[in-house]
Amino acid sequence: MNRLPLLLAVAASCLPVYSTAQPSDIDTSSHCIYTSLFFSGTPYLSESSPRIREIVDEICTAAGFSRNFEVVAASVGSVAAVKDGPRYYLLYSRYYTRTLLERNPVLLYAILAHEIGHIARRHTLDGRFRLSEESSADEFMGRVLYELKKVNSIDMAITLLREDNFAYAPLYPPGARERIIRNGWNSIDGLVRSEGNLGYFENEANLENLTLPVFEIKGCPRFYDFPRSYFQGCKTLKEADHLICRALDNMGYEQRRYYSLPNGFALLTPVEQINAEGIALQGQERWQDYPSSNDFDGILNYLRSLVLPKPGYFRLFAFAITDQPVKSTGGQFDKKQARDWLENGGFWLPELIGNKAFDSGYHAGVFVYEFEAPQTTKKLSERCYPSLLSVEGHLDRSGILQYIKK
Ligand SMILES: [Zn+2]
Repeated sequence: MNRLPLLLAVAASCLPVYSTAQPSDIDTSSHCIYTSLFFSGTPYLSESSPRIREIVDEICTAAGFSRNFEVVAASVGSVAAVKDGPRYYLLYSRYYTRTLLERNPVLLYAILAHEIGHIARRHTLDGRFRLSEESSADEFMGRVLYELKKVNSIDMAITLLREDNFAYAPLYPPGARERIIRNGWNSIDGLVRSEGNLGYFENEANLENLTLPVFEIKGCPRFYDFPRSYFQGCKTLKEADHLICRALDNMGYEQRRYYSLPNGFALLTPVEQINAEGIALQGQERWQDYPSSNDFDGILNYLRSLVLPKPGYFRLFAFAITDQPVKSTGGQFDKKQARDWLENGGFWLPELIGNKAFDSGYHAGVFVYEFEAPQTTKKLSERCYPSLLSVEGHLDRSGILQYIKK
């Protein structure tokens, strides 16, 4: 049975239909608008055209994602993704989309894919993680452009994309945006090329060129091995992951990324600002925003390049579950694992890894990185010695430990 029509019917039955233009009753404060042309807090809404819905559905199908949001024509400057509570909306300007469809249809597909990427990856869109969420939507766009087969090469797609006027482009480090879009394209390209046992992953060079997210220890993090009793009842790596995620959810660590470790995974929290006692700051000041990177080294390099407006202390947790010593992991993937990462890596724990038995050989632990932006330079650098707190102290003050112990 095809489940898609059923899902759409259910979705349609509980969403309003905008037959004539009317002021929005949607709270639009959490949004991404592709160009900075215009975005009113209460745009007028009207029913979407079948052609745009068709394109949106084509993109969702290419991304393997069931449309669970409403597409609405609106008095906005271009195309926007909006989150109102648990619901997402895709708002678009009739004039803007019609013009693009005639002038540069690939660009229209790309822009819609970017906005749909925010929805598919359930971004907050509230501005706290602007760069991280925008770059993640760009990576999604790169994947979808490959799947849609509207262009023959990523170079051609990038050329067409240069015609756009992306509102958040100034946030990116030079060259980073194109690199991230290419990563999305290349990950699906690698997946397709590896089909049919062509020995694609047998070739070392191919493995190295893939955009596998790999966690390697850099710098001077400190490690804490959780007592196994905390994970009593966890039979698979997925169950251990759920336990950690429940603790992170409760303490507000929404944005997380998965990286690979031999036979296991690493789960990274975003970098947060803390006080000297290890307590997280409140509100916007807590989070450090950075591009969604496909390698941990990239994140560290970006952080080291930052000059912050104020001095302060920061930390990052990297949970690690593996039955191997954690060290350099480059090129140690088997074919199946490599394929799985290409398909799912980064935002979810791939099934292939999650289903592994969490047997007695496994360790569940956490690395803590401390950073400091001193008064003199305000440049973020790793704090190695003396540390602010013990690892256990960080786990305790962050509130994570009490949830993992439960
Ligand atoms: Zn966006």
